[in-house]
Amino acid sequence: MATKPSLLFYIYLNFNKIFSMKIFLLLISIFFISFSSISQTKSPKDFLEYELGDRFTRHHKVVEYFQHIANTNTNVKLIKYGETYEKRPLYIAVITSQNNFNKLEDIRIGHLKSAGGTEGNAALDMPIVWLSYNVHGNEASSTEAAMQMLFELANPANSQTKIWLENTVIIIDPCINPDGRDRYVNWYNQNQNSPYNINPDSKEHHEPWPGGRTNHYLFDLNRDWAWATQIETQNRLVEYNRWLPNVHVDFHEQGINAPYYFAPAAEPYHEVVSDFQREFQVTIGKNNAKYFDKNGWLYFTKEYFDLLYPSYGDTYPTFNGAIGMTYEQGGSGRAGLGVKTSDEDILTLKDRITHHFTTGLSTIEISSLNSERLKKEFASYFNKAKNTPIGTYKSYLIRHSNNKDKLKSLKKLLDRHQIKYGISNATNSLKGYSYQDNEIKTVKLSKNDLVINSNQPKSSLVKALFEPQAKLSDSITYDITAWSLPYSRGLDAYALTTKVPIKLDVNEMSEEKIIGVKKPYAYLSKWNSTDDVAFLSYLLKQKIKVRFSKAPFSIDGKDFKAGALIITRRGNEKLGEKFDQIVTEASQKFKREIAAVSSGLVTQGKDFGSRTVSYLKPPKVAILSGTGVSSLGFGEIWHFFEQQIQYPVTVIDTDYFSRVKLNKYDVLVLPNGFYSKILGKEKLSVVKEWVQNGGKLIAIDRALGVFANSKDFKLSKFKDDDEKKEKEKEEKERKERSELEAYDKLERKSVSNLITGSVFNTSMDNTHPLGFGYKKKYKTLRLNSNHYAYLKDGVNVCVIKNKSDLVSGFTGVNALKNVEKSLVFGVEKKGSGEVVYLADNPLFRSFWENGKLVFCNAIFLVGQ
Ligand SMILES: [Zn+2]
Repeated sequence: MATKPSLLFYIYLNFNKIFSMKIFLLLISIFFISFSSISQTKSPKDFLEYELGDRFTRHHKVVEYFQHIANTNTNVKLIKYGETYEKRPLYIAVITSQNNFNKLEDIRIGHLKSAGGTEGNAALDMPIVWLSYNVHGNEASSTEAAMQMLFELANPANSQTKIWLENTVIIIDPCINPDGRDRYVNWYNQNQNSPYNINPDSKEHHEPWPGGRTNHYLFDLNRDWAWATQIETQNRLVEYNRWLPNVHVDFHEQGINAPYYFAPAAEPYHEVVSDFQREFQVTIGKNNAKYFDKNGWLYFTKEYFDLLYPSYGDTYPTFNGAIGMTYEQGGSGRAGLGVKTSDEDILTLKDRITHHFTTGLSTIEISSLNSERLKKEFASYFNKAKNTPIGTYKSYLIRHSNNKDKLKSLKKLLDRHQIKYGISNATNSLKGYSYQDNEIKTVKLSKNDLVINSNQPKSSLVKALFEPQAKLSDSITYDITAWSLPYSRGLDAYALTTKVPIKLDVNEMSEEKIIGVKKPYAYLSKWNSTDDVAFLSYLLKQKIKVRFSKAPFSIDGKDFKAGALIITRRGNEKLGEKFDQIVTEASQKFKREIAAVSSGLVTQGKDFGSRTVSYLKPPKVAILSGTGVSSLGFGEIWHFFEQQIQYPVTVIDTDYFSRVKLNKYDVLVLPNGFYSKILGKEKLSVVKEWVQNGGKLIAIDRALGVFANSKDFKLSKFKDDDEKKEKEKEEKERKERSELEAYDKLERKSVSNLITGSVFNTSMDNTHPLGFGYKKKYKTLRLNSNHYAYLKDGVNVCVIKNKSDLVSGFTGVNALKNVEKSLVFGVEKKGSGEVVYLADNPLFRSFWENGKLVFCNAIFLVGQ
């Protein structure tokens, strides 16, 4: 008789049925979940509730959309790689096929293995295409295009993109520069007509100073990849090096009347650009052209945008093994939602988005079609870099005797780029090019010298950053032509034609110590680097009274050069016990080696009570900013004070400058800019009076112009009237000759008058406070052909004497003549005050590290 089976028995009997039912249910639910998530993937239009191109999307909303796509798709990942100065998040989205996505980490490691890494399986490698949008904030169409791009890659209805994702990984950075972009977008949204007005006169096409191109500190992030002075770059480089893409596109915009620009790039190409990199730019360009031809859109290639300066979003990736490219749409801050162009056409935001979207998609397509080739060439690029690197120099030697702060800062930069280095394991003598003396010399290696060998995965970047002179295939270039790190950082260094054996660099123990007596008469600190300045800045903010010596001295067996800080107990008595505590803390915080001495009686030089030891009055500093001032020039100074030496400054806008009472400030800084309007006759005489009463005026780069034209100041473009006449005559003749020149030769001709950023040897007077902390020789970066004669009534602290002082970079023949006997840095005494002329901008892009102390000397020491 049949009995009711127990539950267990029932399961036993029906095991197969239940099991398959479970699988069925699981499949159903997976299907349901994925179906429902796919159905939840909204287009930008559905998500934003307006069509792309109808308005500009603010950054937080772009982030929300990217999060939405990542949340509704199992093959999309968002990675937050940092935050901007204004605390906006920085993200990339990674997208590939589901199958690839499931082993994404293995693909990434396998890819890095192809790039010379040690771990992972290179067989899993797959080309990575990285699309970077909106590095220039007011070139605002590209972030909009980024949303469309991510949607179309994720959109289940788009079967085409799915095929490409089978053999490529796509990385999208929707906005490299959110602070700048929101600055533009917020302004535009507040000022546009509704509906938008295409009349170029309309306010919506006239972005106010400083515009949205740059980041918070008004730095051009597309000049910062190699120097990594900005937080956005620093964060991005970490993520970039985790992926090292095969193809990198940097999306830009240019003037409203320009047709679209894409690869291949213009000459000059840097020597390290490989044959395949050149070739594949053409392949990509042809594919882009196919779509542009089909739509009848205008475009150009091979003009204007070259591949030389290593700090761009196209060159930097190129020097890291990618096909690095710039794409330029007509538009930028002038274009708004729609604007009338010179050929009577209307350029709309929708057009701009469509073009950028098209080239992005076309780049992915052609990369996918050439997936195997890209993979092979990528591996071979890095293989060559490791085994047979290009160039004469096989290693770069940085002497251990260099200032420790400079060595530390260089290593930090090398780490950011994942450039390998070590310390010398040999003590033999070699011949090499001396960066200090600009000649071949014999150098005896020492065990602790820092060595960067060129046979390493980052070989091209090493060459581009270290070689004394980049080879120029064409003199018409978009940017500076000299930047070598040993020059910009003032390092005693050698380029060697042989490889130096190295061992692992052991980071030396930091010297956060005070050597000497307890409760000393005075603490002493050297003055050689911006870290020393940051230390001073901290002490001043803690209300510590500081003195400095204007002459070298020796005490307790230690030598101190002029500029050394002397922190006496005298003057700080009211702080009591806290005095020693604050100095000790500061020495630890800034890792300074401090000498604590029990007497003010020196063994050599002048005692601490001497007149050569001055009280360093904490200066109240104002900087001019606003219309007329170069936003980049101002930003460099602003960034320097806040991010590098943390010293308080007051920023005064040119709008109300005429109403500001200058006697509240000790120092007024005029950044690079055009001052003829800001400092009209009346205001100039106010400034002059303020200087005579003890103010210190610091003029940088083009700011010198207004003083050279004024009778009240001693600065002049010419030595005397005779030279003035002679030079004006020469100039006239040159103009007449060029009038007869064929029009198509004119551009070339004008190059002979140019300096686009070259390095010159100078003579530095390091006995003057402006030169304290320097050697007698200093290398300056000259950015234009402006010439100022030696000051007749002032101190010429730093000068270029001869045209043979050109060390590196392109300088046209006419411009070179003009360099002779020119002022670099000088001081004019006026009543109780000073004018400091810095003809070459030592803070340019914040990368000429060795110039920064000149600026600090001007702020803190000159005139004290
Ligand atoms: Zn741009």
